[in-house]
Amino acid sequence: APRTVLITGCSSGIGLAIAVRLARDPQRRFQVIATMRDLRKKEKLEEAAGPALGRTLSIQHLDVCSDSSVAECVGSIPGGRVDVLVSNAGVGHVGPVESISVEEMKHLFDTNFFGAVRMIKAVLPDMKRRRSGHIVVISSVMGLQGIVFNDVYAASKFAVEGFCESLAVQLLQFDVFISMVEPGPVNTDFERKLLEEASRRECAGADAATVRYFRDVYLPASRDIFAALGQSPEAVAEAVARVVGAQRPAFRMQTNRLYTPLVALKYADPSGDLSVRTLHRLLFRSGSLLRLSVSALRCLTCACCRRGVTPA
Ligand code: NAD
Repeated sequence: APRTVLITGCSSGIGLAIAVRLARDPQRRFQVIATMRDLRKKEKLEEAAGPALGRTLSIQHLDVCSDSSVAECVGSIPGGRVDVLVSNAGVGHVGPVESISVEEMKHLFDTNFFGAVRMIKAVLPDMKRRRSGHIVVISSVMGLQGIVFNDVYAASKFAVEGFCESLAVQLLQFDVFISMVEPGPVNTDFERKLLEEASRRECAGADAATVRYFRDVYLPASRDIFAALGQSPEAVAEAVARVVGAQRPAFRMQTNRLYTPLVALKYADPSGDLSVRTLHRLLFRSGSLLRLSVSALRCLTCACCRRGVTPA
């Protein structure tokens, strides 16, 4: 029988692409419940799903920030049975920390961290009871490596990684798997919304030099990075299909090879200086994060990476 896959945040971007990829699986392995916070935005998914709609794909309401919405959606699934959870819903945030209120930070954590936690808690008891199940979390390379001006977003993804890394050990005892999918930049509305919001941001509370670094150095570099290294949501969906189809799914999976060396810097030097100082030099000394891609490519062939210092 096809496995039931519940996905959050399917009205756009990566979530939409995953829902479509799994619902239109050539081997028909999945029955997809694609969920979204606002059902008025379902048209794009309906269109992309094509003939899968109503057959291998159904659309339901789910707001990951609401306990009752999560309970209602999971409760409506026959037998409450979810074989695969894909926790994808998330929001981005960039800017100088001085200009971000703690309230805003809590809102971001409520979606990116507690949203994933709510979903995992909702499906876990049944998965444990059945001694089978797979939880896939769309994390980010920023769940492994902090990036300048993404302090709060990276913190929320680190939080998810810590939560899941701890849980993964216990769950192996129940034959339940967790996988963290860690994309680099992906060209979705996420980045567009983020950069639009960032350019409007008044940065009140931050000093002039910090605001200048953010506006004149970070934002253009970020645009360049997305243009040069950005993946399509479909490429990430393909990676998710691979991990969901695996007999023994990996705990971590980076989807963009160009980012592997960035994370390797961290593991290559336990003091942390290599990654912090390299990122500092690339952004503030060379003036362009684009150089990062070049050094990343060079690093792919360097001895430390060939020795397998990169994380599994
Ligand atoms: P996106 O903005 O297109 O998609 C995010 C989705 O989450 C949207 O459909 C949004 O409506 C939904 N969402 C937000 N709050 C929600 C809530 N409370 N309840 C239910 N749904 C909610 O962006 P995306 O790039 O497709 O992002 C998907 C995931 O991928 C996120 O977790 C993001 O952190 C992660 N990610 C994105 C990138 C990137 O560069 N785009 C890179 C790495 C990881």
